[in-house]
Amino acid sequence: MRGLLSSGKKFAGSGVGVWPRRRTVIAAMAALVLLPIEVSDAGWLSDVFKGSPKSGRLPKHVTSPKRATLAKPAASPKPSTVKLAALGPVALNPLALKPGATMCDPSKFRIVLDVGHTAESEGATSARNVAEFVFNLRLARRIEEKLKEEGFAETRLLLTEGKARPSLVKRVAAANNLPANLFLSIHHDSVPDSFLENWEFEGKKSHFSDRFSGYSVFVSRNNPDFKTSLSFAELLAREMKAQGLQYAQQYSQAIMGRYQHPLLNKETGVYSYDKLIVLKSTRMPAVLLEAGSIINRDEELRMDSAERRDIISSGVAAAVKEFCDPRWAILGAL
Ligand SMILES: [Zn+2]
Repeated sequence: MRGLLSSGKKFAGSGVGVWPRRRTVIAAMAALVLLPIEVSDAGWLSDVFKGSPKSGRLPKHVTSPKRATLAKPAASPKPSTVKLAALGPVALNPLALKPGATMCDPSKFRIVLDVGHTAESEGATSARNVAEFVFNLRLARRIEEKLKEEGFAETRLLLTEGKARPSLVKRVAAANNLPANLFLSIHHDSVPDSFLENWEFEGKKSHFSDRFSGYSVFVSRNNPDFKTSLSFAELLAREMKAQGLQYAQQYSQAIMGRYQHPLLNKETGVYSYDKLIVLKSTRMPAVLLEAGSIINRDEELRMDSAERRDIISSGVAAAVKEFCDPRWAILGAL
């Protein structure tokens, strides 16, 4: 999504995890089959978006937008509190634990889970010719379930339609208008075209690259609340690592050319991606997670498993809980 999710450059492909590839009918159909189910969950967005939804895809029962019934916006965690959380248990100041320390109320904390790409503009294509959008949707749904199980009732999937760039504006507007307290964009990674190799999958010419693997976490230094964005990014990356996952190291390497990004934390794998629209134009802490590579043939199989979705969802939920309440980091579930 270099050109599509970031501003200022024209690039027909996508960016982090959104590389220009031809799409397959199978992938598109899979996405379309999944979409109606999710649109009902995302019905609360219908009054946020000015554009009229595609009537052919919307189930009839999508009626009252849930936004009207949402509670008043919960206060964002104070940066000082969040900063303590990001430092981890060892560095926690006991003063942060005194009664009255600012913490969020999970039942009112609005988390927007942004499903990367759209059914029309599906992002990357996996080694086995499945659209990234399909992976993003499945994982985001599992994360949503997990967060709601943990009491974060105001967690919402953000599903957008249409072409890539207009959909980015919609994403940002939806999150800002809510307003969300935390924005997390879910993606799966690929590689630039120059790294692609040919193979045949189920009798069809396909592309792969087994060279890189792993998750990565991105923030924009242009986000108005960069410090808090970074705090959450650090928590998320640490939790991914704690789940036994490894981060993708290639983005800091010169071999990536224009896709190179500054590595902000070489221990956990937090990168900056300053011009990414959904990270810089959102007026709340915003983080993008590349959950793993789907162009890597082994990792694609793992990313396709419910087990891996559970692992990642648990990591996200743990990070959100720590972000919301620093005491959780040292005391466990309260
Ligand atoms: Zn993507």
